[in-house]
Amino acid sequence: MHLYDAVVIGAGQAGLSASYHLRRLDIDHVVLDADARPGGAWQHRWDTLTMDDVHGVADLPDGPAPGRGGDRANNVIPGWFGDYERTFGLPVVRPVRVDRVESDGDLLVVRAGERAWTTRTLVNATGTWTRPFVPSYPGAETFVGEQLHTVDYPGPEHLVGKRVLVVGGGASAVQFLGELAPVTDVLWATRRPPVWRDDWSEQAGRDWSEQTGRDAITLVQERVARGLPPASVVSVTGLGLRPQEQEAARRGVYDARRPMFARIEPDGVRWADGSFEHVDVILWATGFRPAVAHLAPLHLRSPLGGIALTSVGRDVQTAVISTVDPRVQLVGYGPSASTIGGNRAGRAAATAVRRHLAESPLLLG
Ligand code: FAD
Repeated sequence: MHLYDAVVIGAGQAGLSASYHLRRLDIDHVVLDADARPGGAWQHRWDTLTMDDVHGVADLPDGPAPGRGGDRANNVIPGWFGDYERTFGLPVVRPVRVDRVESDGDLLVVRAGERAWTTRTLVNATGTWTRPFVPSYPGAETFVGEQLHTVDYPGPEHLVGKRVLVVGGGASAVQFLGELAPVTDVLWATRRPPVWRDDWSEQAGRDWSEQTGRDAITLVQERVARGLPPASVVSVTGLGLRPQEQEAARRGVYDARRPMFARIEPDGVRWADGSFEHVDVILWATGFRPAVAHLAPLHLRSPLGGIALTSVGRDVQTAVISTVDPRVQLVGYGPSASTIGGNRAGRAAATAVRRHLAESPLLLG
């Protein structure tokens, strides 16, 4: 049996960054990834999401991100990740879907079916894409139309001629409405009124990620430090309309937003005031939850429902060390759930792993 110093689970932005830094520190590790190909969640994004549509993808360490343009993100980013893995010789093994991580004395055992890897530390970088969240509403099972989540979004062609209700107040909902309004009949419902940012523009977006974004990330980090489930960073920073959404804005789609309906009926949705809208499709752009079910045997969760994390440094995105079990690092979780955050957290995790290995020498025999 080989004993690894670290096992990384997940080869998205966060996992690749962690692996790069572990390699630089000469830490013996393997990266286990559930997908058959490089690309993390990006390979599963819908075909009409171009590099012009993404909010901004941060560089990987020593790996500049591809530029903007009309090419499909689900093609460009996997290509970039694949090149990166090869260039730096990162030890990625795929496809391996980890189903359990168990503690065995000082060691951790990472299991995928019959296969197992034994390690002294763990870096979990499994993202959120495999845990789509759909809120429950009475009558959902009676709906005869189609219910789709962001992960199923088939693109506008499939929805032409249908009446589509987009649910959710985040960036994906805004983008879907922008894309669908010119070709089909759309409605919008959100739980809370969306927070629009007046200063939105490409430049303001960049400035935002430097300034306002930091405050938002700090709020998420404070939640995570207390052991609360992480909130979405966008939910606290506000939304903007880009040129791609101007047509939908002109049609008044964003102004006609309604609060959430009270129940779902076979051919539509009904609000508490009794009003009813017929819809053919409900598109749930209602976000994701961290994909951490395989960590359940380690009992990392606090009574408040989240996994409490401690920071490595002063940067809020270095909150990666499980407060309960310092052998375990979570990257791309909470304050680091963005490409820039994943990048920084990967470095922090490698630092934390090195410290842990130095402070907890293996007592053989
Ligand atoms: P992922 O890219 O999801 O990678 C996780 C990896 O872990 C996957 O390869 C998966 O196969 C693997 N995995 C999962 N479970 C297991 C398991 N049990 N065993 C083994 N492997 C497993 N952020 C930005 O900064 N800019 C953007 O423009 C942006 N756009 C976004 C658009 C959409 C529609 C969404 C949903 C999110 C967007 N984000 C964006 C947030 C984005 O998801 C993250 O920034 C980043 O891509 C996440 O990287 P990650 O490495 O944490 O996770």
